[in-house]
Amino acid sequence: MSINFSEQELALGRNIIETCRDLERRGLNQGTSGNVSVRLGQDSADGFLITPTAMPYDIMQPEDMAHMRFDGGSTGRREPSSEWRFHLDIYRTRPEVGAVIHTHSGYSTTLACLRRDIPAFHYMIALFGGADIRCSDYATYGTQELSDLVLKALEGRSAALMGSHGLIVLGPTLQRALALTVEAETLAMMYWRALQIGEPRLLDAAEILRVREKFAAYGYGAAKK
Ligand code: 13P
Ligand code: ZN
Repeated sequence: MSINFSEQELALGRNIIETCRDLERRGLNQGTSGNVSVRLGQDSADGFLITPTAMPYDIMQPEDMAHMRFDGGSTGRREPSSEWRFHLDIYRTRPEVGAVIHTHSGYSTTLACLRRDIPAFHYMIALFGGADIRCSDYATYGTQELSDLVLKALEGRSAALMGSHGLIVLGPTLQRALALTVEAETLAMMYWRALQIGEPRLLDAAEILRVREKFAAYGYGAAKK
C-alpha cells in the first residue's frame, strides 16, 4: 500500500539515506547489507521509518522508506527491512532510543564470527554503557529468535555484536548512532589488531565507572564553561 509522506517523514527519509551512504563511503556497509531506522515520535502510535529490504543504498529514495507501526504492520511502496523485528522490539523496550543502525562492518563482524565479546581493553568501551560490548548467539536473520538474542546482548548497552552476522548500535538520534557505529567499529579494529600480537591488558570495573562519569560531563563539542 502506498502512502503520502509528510514533510517531516520525507526529511527523516533523506537523513536515513544520507546515513546509509555515509556508512557505505566509510566501508561499514555495502550493497544491501545492514539497515537503518528512526523513531517518528514518543507516542506509541507514531511508529518508525526503516530502510526497505533488499534495496541498494545508492538507488534508495525517501519515498522507499517503510513506515512501521508497533503492531508489526507497515505502509509504504516497499517491504520493510527483513530485520524490522529487532528494530521494533528495541523502540518498544528502550524509550531513550531514537535511531538504530545495523551493519556488517568488517572488524565487528570478524569478532562476531568468532563469538568474542569486546572487553575493556580500551577506555572508549565505556561509551557503550559498561565494561564490554557483548556478542549474541547466532539465529537466522529476520527471525524473532534473533531479535530476542540481540535484545539480551544489548541489555544496559548501546551496541552489541550479533553472532556470525554483524553489529547493532543504538543512539538517541541518527547522527549520534552513526558516530557510535564508527566508534564501535574502530574499537573492534583495535581489539582485533591487539590480538594479533598479544593478549590486551584489561581495565577494571572501577576505571570503567570513572570514565563513564567523565563521559557524562564530556559535552561533545559544547562551548567552554
Ligand atoms: P535487509 O535488506 O532486509 O535490510 O537485510 C539486510 C541485513 O543485513 C539482514 O540482516
Ligand atoms: Zn544483517
